[in-house]
Amino acid sequence: MTTKAILVTGGAGFIGSHYVRTLLGPHGAKGVTITVLDKLTYAGSLTNLTEVSDSDRFTFVWGDICDASLVDELIAGHDQVVHFAAESHVDRSILGAADFVRTNVTGTQTLLDAALRHGIETFVHISTDEVYGSIDVGSWPETSSVSPNSPYSAAKASSDLIALSYHRTHGLDVRVTRCSNNYGPHQFPEKVIPLFVTSLLDGRKVPLYGDGANVRDWLHVDDHVHGIELVRAGGRAGEVYNIGGGTELSNKELTQLLLDACGADWDSVRHIADRKGHDRRYSVDCTKIRRELGYRPTREFEAALAETVAWYRGNRTWWEPLKHRLQTAA
Ligand code: NAD
Repeated sequence: MTTKAILVTGGAGFIGSHYVRTLLGPHGAKGVTITVLDKLTYAGSLTNLTEVSDSDRFTFVWGDICDASLVDELIAGHDQVVHFAAESHVDRSILGAADFVRTNVTGTQTLLDAALRHGIETFVHISTDEVYGSIDVGSWPETSSVSPNSPYSAAKASSDLIALSYHRTHGLDVRVTRCSNNYGPHQFPEKVIPLFVTSLLDGRKVPLYGDGANVRDWLHVDDHVHGIELVRAGGRAGEVYNIGGGTELSNKELTQLLLDACGADWDSVRHIADRKGHDRRYSVDCTKIRRELGYRPTREFEAALAETVAWYRGNRTWWEPLKHRLQTAA
């Protein structure tokens, strides 16, 4: 078997590190080596990669995907790219969009240019269901146009279009995945599930936006990683694949489950003004990845959520310093 050298950008973040730990773990991919390129922004942490740091199939490079000479030098030794690196938090994009455009758009274009120059065989671009915008009923298929509403999703949609243009213009084998909301261990405690769980475990109140009726499809990060691997191994060049099919919940319903899991009640909830431009509902149609690649989510929501809450309960040393940093930066 020939070994594939994969460059994973953003591999010190939540989903990227789960991807790396999975591929290099006991039931992972055979015949791959991984280089992680990560800038270690506030959202990235080397502790997410401790499990694999001794593997002879793993290398870490600290750097920025916008650094064209570093990216060019690094990509030369690789067969494939799986591109997670991004600014990923919607609320931060509302406060200031510059880093989102720089990393998500210019960073992606920098990687694509280098991938083209060095004949990368497959470039998997990780994107989000948020690029389609809000949908009241039904689900977006991949043929829908993008209609993003936040600076985060607009920057992601731009990067999707640029990535796909490198396939159509230059023939680069680009594959785009668009996934729904993920949950699981190692998610930065500003995102709703870890924010609520870690706050409730500390006896603090949690903020619920608006009327709490906004709906999201929640998918365990294991199922996302599984979908990405199916696309990397068997997807088609120039295609977009939606990944989802988790559990649709309103924020109010999710809050109730998290209150129950942490032994708290609605007295622990602070109602706050709605997020600006808050999309009402996201939903992706996953027929294509199911039919073409045999994808199906395997993690049952309530059990996987309980396991996730237990992980945060048992790993205070992971999230306490991160929350401390957030609080002192505020
Ligand atoms: P994250 O914020 O946890 O991690 C992002 C990682 O990228 C961090 O390690 C950070 O240090 C790194 N990074 C940021 N800017 C960089 C730069 N300029 N150069 C190099 N590295 C940089 O994000 P996540 O939740 O793991 O999301 C990963 C990808 O998946 C993103 O592209 C996101 O849009 C997409 N996605 C996320 C979700 C979700 O629910 N979290 C859902 C669908 C898609």
